[in-house]
Amino acid sequence: MTSPGATIQRDSEGRLQHLITLEGLTRDEITGLLDLAEFYVRPPGELPARDQSLAGRTVANLFFEPSTRTRVSFEIAARRLGADVVNLDMQTSSRAKGETVLDTIYTLQAMHADILVMRDAEPGLPAFVAQHVAPHVCILNAGEAHLSHPTQGLLDALTVRQVKGDFSDLRILIAGDIAHSRVARSAWQVFTTLGAREVRIAAPDDLMPAADEFPGASRYTSLDEAIEGVDVVMTLRIQRERMKRALFPDERTYHHEFGITAARMRKAKPDAIVMHPGPMNRDVEISSEVADGPQSVIQRQVTNGVAVRMAVLATMVRNVQARRRL
Ligand code: ASP
Repeated sequence: MTSPGATIQRDSEGRLQHLITLEGLTRDEITGLLDLAEFYVRPPGELPARDQSLAGRTVANLFFEPSTRTRVSFEIAARRLGADVVNLDMQTSSRAKGETVLDTIYTLQAMHADILVMRDAEPGLPAFVAQHVAPHVCILNAGEAHLSHPTQGLLDALTVRQVKGDFSDLRILIAGDIAHSRVARSAWQVFTTLGAREVRIAAPDDLMPAADEFPGASRYTSLDEAIEGVDVVMTLRIQRERMKRALFPDERTYHHEFGITAARMRKAKPDAIVMHPGPMNRDVEISSEVADGPQSVIQRQVTNGVAVRMAVLATMVRNVQARRRL
């Protein structure tokens, strides 16, 4: 079943007005976004890419859940494209005073904020808000409950593509707290759309998603089996904040059973890469040795996050302009 966000995010011409989910994006649309992101990537030590695609625009960051990488990289991306940026402190803002989210959105819209970047712990907020904003306003989902984190999925795909090229030969493992992870869902969507040979998910029983989720993915409850021969290993933080009760044993046991360690990495392909969306719990889901080791592309993911967000922002503004010309 298609999620509401996948329909709501498109205008009447089928163009993306919002980015709520990667569900329903075509391979060409994803490739186009990754190509533009690649254009914005600069080698370390060089000055970052800049242009004026967002000149005169205002981007507002509304994060109702904590964020470091995503919020900062949206801000850097928007500034590098010439936008004004406002960061709302949502812990102390009007939602806390009882103002509805929509009133906050209308207030921002009245101040000519035209791109709203949102993160929330509850499912459904980005799609709900997208249905109520003016046609020139764009909603970008920066993390929705356990469901969706589209720009993270795109930056993960860009990172894999840079190192491995074509997806058709790749066996990709996503391991850890899959049940509560929006990163896993968006990564699975994008890897599948780009034609990965196999996507494996590995989690302890309690952290495995429902049977009707991740169709087509191979499921493992043993990490040692799942990691055999893979090209990409993506591990995830345990999302305690989304658990109603403790669902896994202590951290030591978890590390023993589900930690990505140097010994386990030897079972993957010798040139396999290791990914993590951050924030990492070192020596829980990943050992420091692996996180900082030669197979790790974790810092590259962070760098790519800015480029991907620049590409998404520039594309959304281009789509708004195209709509206006109609
Ligand atoms: N930063 C990622 C997210 O917002 C992953 C995490 O928090 O574990 O989903």
